[in-house]
Amino acid sequence: MTCPRAHDCSLAPKLDGTNRLMRVLRHLYCDYNSHQCARVRLAALDQDVPPDLLPNGHSRSLLRQQGS
Ligand code: SF4
Repeated sequence: MTCPRAHDCSLAPKLDGTNRLMRVLRHLYCDYNSHQCARVRLAALDQDVPPDLLPNGHSRSLLRQQGS
């Protein structure tokens, strides 16, 4: 990961797993475009970052409810 926040991102370990969606998100955001990550952008605004907020702005719990 090239994201400068990876060391204290609570989501980072989950993005290293075997889930295909998580791997795609890691590739799209954490490895190449961390400046576009919703977590990075919220933190830059001094806003609380919800633990289940995905880099694309969706929530993990919502995706689970939808069966993803
Ligand atoms: S989810 Fe966002 S904050 Fe966390 S490591 Fe990936 S790019 Fe960085």
